Amino acid sequence: VRRLHSNEGAELQPRPPVVTVMGHVDHGKTSLLDALRQTSVAAKEAGGITQHLGAFVVEMPSGASITFLDTPGHAAFSAMRARGAAVTDIVVLVVAADDGVMPQTLEAMAHAKAANVPIVVAINKCDKPAAEPERVKIQLGSEGLPLEEMGGDVQVVEVSAVTKSGLDKLEEALLLQAELMELKARVDGSAQAYVVEARLDRGRGPLATAIVKAGTLVSGQHVVVGAEWGRIRAIRNMVGKAMDMARPSMPIEIEGLKGLPMAGDDIIVVESEERARILSSGRKKKSERDRLRKIDE
Ligand code: GDP
Repeated sequence: VRRLHSNEGAELQPRPPVVTVMGHVDHGKTSLLDALRQTSVAAKEAGGITQHLGAFVVEMPSGASITFLDTPGHAAFSAMRARGAAVTDIVVLVVAADDGVMPQTLEAMAHAKAANVPIVVAINKCDKPAAEPERVKIQLGSEGLPLEEMGGDVQVVEVSAVTKSGLDKLEEALLLQAELMELKARVDGSAQAYVVEARLDRGRGPLATAIVKAGTLVSGQHVVVGAEWGRIRAIRNMVGKAMDMARPSMPIEIEGLKGLPMAGDDIIVVESEERARILSSGRKKKSERDRLRKIDE
């Protein structure tokens, strides 16, 4: 199978950043995602009712948009990375203003650094009387994070997931970071995509939330997803609307896989069902071999 791996020679277009929220337990990752989700396109279009998709898109007044992965935490990030999925462009590091830098804050910093993903800091719970955002900044600085106000390039925004103050500033900071990164993707041609989440629906079978990294994914195409395969029967967007195709950074749900893939699995388009079956069975054999080898060791 010939795959277009690089962007060489193809026309590139700007694409929205894909953002993951990380930080210490109870510092407000889930609350912050909930608050951001309420500003999302889906929340606006569907009157607050959103599909559970594992990702959502926020559109800014300027027309620019941001894709947020809806699974907070380090396990998801590591699992994706372990499978080679470089799906996240930016990490939002959530630090509670009253609690400061904690072990998982440092762990998140290490993960982002190892993955070479830039951080934007969200100092959360700034509504609390005990909030000390300045103290948090000093802590982060002394942990080696080069904050902008100390002459570095890491932006810091003070927010509250409860009062929703600062969310617009956070979104702007993310867009600015994205602009600096000049995120671009090839839009034409065969899609390269990643699974963000997968679940089994009783009526519809395996459903995978995916994000296209490059190219265009088209309904009806044969795909290999990790070690699974299938033919895309439907592509749905965040509000459950069926679409013919999906472009880079857009979170979608795909239906039509024969088995349940895993977060971080890659999605590649192949020309026929036969190719899909062959590739899938090859990958299944390989993962079985890897598993046995691990047991041996
Ligand atoms: P997670 O473990 O990082 O996902 O944290 P959660 O989102 O579950 O939040 C932990 C606790 O902090 C919950 O009781 C939230 O209501 C509370 N919390 C989260 N964000 C804020 C905030 O901005 N202000 C205040 N006062 N409480 C918050």
